[in-house]
Amino acid sequence: MTGWSSTLEPCSKSAKIPIPDIIKAMGSLHAFQTDDLRLKPIYEKVLVGERMDAADALTLYCTGDILAVGWMANSVRERMHGDKTYFNVNRHINPTNVCVAACRLCAFGRKKDVAGAYTMALEEAFETAASGYSEAVTEFHIVGGLHPDLPFQYFLDLCSGLKQRFPQVHLKAFTMVEVAYLARRAKLSIRETLEQLKASGVDSLPGGGAEIFADRVRHIICDHKIDGDQWLETAKLAHQIGLKSNATMLYGHVENDEDRVDHLMKLRALQDETGGFQTFIPLAFHPDNTPLQHLPKTTGMLDIKQIAVSRLVLDNFPHIKSYWQMMTAKIAQISLRFGADDMDGTVIEEKIYHDAGATTPQGMRREELERLIRAAGRVPIERDTLYRPVTRTETSVTVAV
Ligand code: SF4
Repeated sequence: MTGWSSTLEPCSKSAKIPIPDIIKAMGSLHAFQTDDLRLKPIYEKVLVGERMDAADALTLYCTGDILAVGWMANSVRERMHGDKTYFNVNRHINPTNVCVAACRLCAFGRKKDVAGAYTMALEEAFETAASGYSEAVTEFHIVGGLHPDLPFQYFLDLCSGLKQRFPQVHLKAFTMVEVAYLARRAKLSIRETLEQLKASGVDSLPGGGAEIFADRVRHIICDHKIDGDQWLETAKLAHQIGLKSNATMLYGHVENDEDRVDHLMKLRALQDETGGFQTFIPLAFHPDNTPLQHLPKTTGMLDIKQIAVSRLVLDNFPHIKSYWQMMTAKIAQISLRFGADDMDGTVIEEKIYHDAGATTPQGMRREELERLIRAAGRVPIERDTLYRPVTRTETSVTVAV
């Protein structure tokens, strides 16, 4: 980026201008600049909206010029969304942490008879849902372990029971990994499983379990999970029956830049085919309490770069989310000027990343999220799961359709 423009007010004069306004003015006054000649042709592509290829994506990961990458990602983000920054008011429900998979990346799953293992009775899950309802949530985010004994009917009853009790709340439920496991247990095809889940009340899928698609990496971090192709095939089937989903990528463990590029390219190719992905969510790996706890945590530079590269490469994904629970609220806030347009939600009672050592709070008030977004010079928009604006009064919550 260039240095300061001479048209900026001196500090004494600008002292009374709100900080978000100063941030906005800075954005429009900076021209693109880099000493990394490899970024010049990428910049030319960004200017005309041309698609990045795998070599471009690799260059973006390799360069040390994070500000140049951020400038390009920010320009794409502003072209798509202006200053709008989305968030929602949601509650997480993790019905069980009992899991047969034992992924090395995981601090959440437990074998069924060990200390700390839990499985909610249906009534307990409904009570958990209701305990966050005073916040007027618009979404339940439901994921859990691969329980060896719970029948498929439990999950159908969970969803239909939640829909019956909270008809206006969107159910974003079950990763592709859970769907594939439920299909196996119920002896149904993936399509039939998805259709039954949809009929019971599931409105969309959250997109977890993608991790990194490359076999080499999957064998190290999650060798009992479905492979990358099966994850993509399950997402494709969900999209084909009208269920939108998100997509994730777990980064910052044993993967390399080529693995990350491969992951992004595969998601982009499927999105070209189905158009069913709403949001891409890069997830920073938290090693604490996992068998991979000797690995270092991700750095702020990697977190920011991952957001920026995602925005530039995934040109057909409407939204890039900086998930504050994993990358901290402060890094997530900064990423709003590096390509992200969504900060996730208020997230009442997150368990999975806190078991892995996340030190962020387990929830954030709506007012605090809005404050962070405004302080980044952006405009907070409360959305529902399908990105329809939500309007609140003291007594009602309305979703624009
Ligand atoms: S990551 Fe998911 S599938 Fe793997 S052990 Fe943890 S809960 Fe089970």
